[in-house]
Amino acid sequence: MTTDAAPEILEGGCHCGAVRYRVMVRSHEAIECNCSVCAKKGFLHLIVPESDFKLLHGADAITTYTFGTHTAKHHFCSHCGIHSYYRPRSHPEQVDVNLRCLDGVDLLDFTLSTFDGQNWEDSVEELRTRHRNRQ
Ligand SMILES: [Zn+2]
Repeated sequence: MTTDAAPEILEGGCHCGAVRYRVMVRSHEAIECNCSVCAKKGFLHLIVPESDFKLLHGADAITTYTFGTHTAKHHFCSHCGIHSYYRPRSHPEQVDVNLRCLDGVDLLDFTLSTFDGQNWEDSVEELRTRHRNRQ
């Protein structure tokens, strides 16, 4: 299965189950970022329009970490600590789901591309163009 897979509705969330969401997956392309925080988290990015994301429950369990420009809102579950989705600095109006937190996903079904978050300012336009072209 590659990038032109049929859209499918998947659910996911944190480890303890406090945070749960439903997401429409329209593309099997995910992004791995090498910035200071993503590298440590192991976050695999699936950026979707807000209309394709629905938080089922857990808003009250979410804590948000910010740093640097404070544009990205790094949400995580205050009980189990898992970062299952957040608001990315590159696309603050969209939702960035952690591919690793979706139920039943085989990572091998996804194509991973890289984002050079260590050099964010130099890399972000290319990422935004790439993302726009596949929506
Ligand atoms: Zn949790």
